[in-house]
Amino acid sequence: MKPMGPIPPGYEARDGELVIAGQRASHWIAQAGRTPLFVYDGAMIDRRIAYLRSAMPARLAIHYAIKANSFAPLLARMTGLVDGFDVASGGELAMAMSAGMDAARISFAGPGKDDAEIAAAIAAGATLNLESARELDRALAAGERLGIAPRLAIRVNPDFDLKGSGMKMGGGAKPFGIDAARVPALVRRVVEAGAEWRGFHIFAGSQALDADAVIETQAQTLALAVRLSEDAGVALPHCNLGGGFGIPYFPGDTPLDIAAVGAALGEALAALPGAYADTHFAIELGRYLVGEAGVYLSRVLDVKDSHGECYVVIDGGLHHQLAASGNFGTVVKRNYPVAVANRFDASAADYEQTVVGRLCTPIDRLADKVALPPIADGDVIAIFCAGAYGASASPAAFLGHAPAVEILA
Ligand SMILES: *Cc1c(COP(=O)(O)O)cnc(C)c1O
Repeated sequence: MKPMGPIPPGYEARDGELVIAGQRASHWIAQAGRTPLFVYDGAMIDRRIAYLRSAMPARLAIHYAIKANSFAPLLARMTGLVDGFDVASGGELAMAMSAGMDAARISFAGPGKDDAEIAAAIAAGATLNLESARELDRALAAGERLGIAPRLAIRVNPDFDLKGSGMKMGGGAKPFGIDAARVPALVRRVVEAGAEWRGFHIFAGSQALDADAVIETQAQTLALAVRLSEDAGVALPHCNLGGGFGIPYFPGDTPLDIAAVGAALGEALAALPGAYADTHFAIELGRYLVGEAGVYLSRVLDVKDSHGECYVVIDGGLHHQLAASGNFGTVVKRNYPVAVANRFDASAADYEQTVVGRLCTPIDRLADKVALPPIADGDVIAIFCAGAYGASASPAAFLGHAPAVEILA
């Protein structure tokens, strides 16, 4: 038997069934008309953001990195909940704008922006987080063609990374951002060219659960932003401190201590020199905001034995929920929290079973040798922590099955 991650708080049984957003799983399946489906609990996202705001310093803006989940109804709801969106492609820029987010509150990072994307961002009035000196040249040229002063920030590749983070995005050689040593000269070029200087974007990593590591990284990030502004001799209007707040996915994971992070950040901001009193600070989060609010529901198509091992075959798979198969940025495959949705209160969860998707590939293994109640055809398997990097981060076209239904409850 192998352990699985913790089921997020807030999921209960009613009449034996898993309840999501106040309704039984069977209600959502009936509404979708088929399985598999993702259900996102909007009220859970509201509560998460309200809690985060109560813990963070009041002057800190909260941005949503929409690549975590760009389902249109969810984006529309998020526009009223967060202070800005961070996008990573022209497609995401268009989604953010059609969700109703004011372009002045959108920033666009990502290595490899093409000229059409750069022009679209400038024309809309979004901020471009520059990832190279060459991109600065192209943004200035596009601004000139359009007759608009582009809003430009610099994404800094910091000299440190977020310790214990699941995905490292800074420290040493990286395709993201501009090495810190090269930044002051580029800041001066942005200002001299007459562009609107929008400050720094410094993102050091993702999926951290250790508050001390996040606190240390935020302190290093602030110190770096101050040092680079001073070296450039230019005031700092905005600073995006990155994010990296993780959620518990795996056995032994415990929630990040948000209160400790917020208190330390409040002190760190208060201790900045007076020249930064008017600087706007932001964090950008994806999975922390939406990850635990999503559940993937998939029906059992077959249960079979092979050499003494029990396989449960569901009508979904990694084409919808790649991350649960361990093939999206994790080094070691560990089990996400899973349960039987129609028998969520089952006490005899002691049969070792492996839940596999329906794809013809050995990597479509969604829960490996986990303890579940005995499973029969027609049962519904719930995979938790499916609100982020599920539908938007899975190879939906692989093998030609239908996409999953998505519902914002
Ligand atoms: C992906 C990404 C995020 C969001 O990461 P999460 O781990 O989902 O919070 C934030 N900022 C940048 C630059 C990213 O690339």
